[in-house]
Amino acid sequence: MARVLAVTNQKGGVGKTTTAVNLSACLAECGQRVLLIDLDPQGNATTGCGVVKRVALPTVYQILIGRSTVSDTRLATDSGFDVLPANRELAGAEVDLIDIAQREYRLRDAVAGVREEYDFILMDCPPALNMLTVNGLVAADRVMIPMQCEYYALEGLTDLVATLKKVRAKLNPTLEIEGLLRTMFDPRSTLTQQVSGELEGHFGSKVYRTIIPRNVRLAEAPSYGKPVIAFDRSSKGAQAYLLLAHEVLDRRAGKPDAVQAAAALGMQP
Ligand code: ATP
Ligand code: MG
Repeated sequence: MARVLAVTNQKGGVGKTTTAVNLSACLAECGQRVLLIDLDPQGNATTGCGVVKRVALPTVYQILIGRSTVSDTRLATDSGFDVLPANRELAGAEVDLIDIAQREYRLRDAVAGVREEYDFILMDCPPALNMLTVNGLVAADRVMIPMQCEYYALEGLTDLVATLKKVRAKLNPTLEIEGLLRTMFDPRSTLTQQVSGELEGHFGSKVYRTIIPRNVRLAEAPSYGKPVIAFDRSSKGAQAYLLLAHEVLDRRAGKPDAVQAAAALGMQP
């Protein structure tokens, strides 16, 4: 039965899409059956895994308004995982869903039928707390929060935690935080170190030990329509996302310390 993870943060440009695409590819490489759902009308996750956003094909939009199913919409990527694509049309869902009953549950209900077919279902949420994100949070078992370690990040996190509480109270009582992921990390910055320390202080073991460094190969890979492990496997970015995949698998298996061992072997960037 798939674990369903929403990759979310209402703050823009923190590495949600980079994380969703690369973690999907790395989990697939570890032998996991993965479905990536692009919930962002920007469609960056769709292009980032090499799928052309052709207008004629159904997308997540048609699923949300009940005109297509997951089985009829998913596409296989070259990297061994499936994707439910998105394009600009998805921006209209906000309005179209207004008249639809149980609109917060549309994605959850659509995904329910394929949960047995996957080990992980990852959702790339848009940088907003809108109806698309709410559909993601209601469909999810857990949320993964990528964040840059800068001053305003902590303020944003307070808003996000408040939203999660509301969703838990009204729509999805079992929603949990899977983990907080430090992205675009620059160890030379004192502020980064300070914020990173505060995060660990507040959230303890919820903070992944794996840290994603700032790495230009991660920024270049999407323009080739490839996850970074297919683009430059030896890059620090690729190695970091592989480590993250192992940490996610270890957490699922209840073995958080395996990652420490990997770090001790020098695999941590
Ligand atoms: P949005 O909120 O717009 O959806 P996002 O949170 O999904 O953004 P990304 O699109 O993943 O963020 O990343 C923002 C930009 O930073 C992109 O150009 C991406 O290629 C780049 N980027 C992401 N992670 C890294 C990294 N670790 N090192 C270098 N560049 C990165
Ligand atoms: Mg994005």
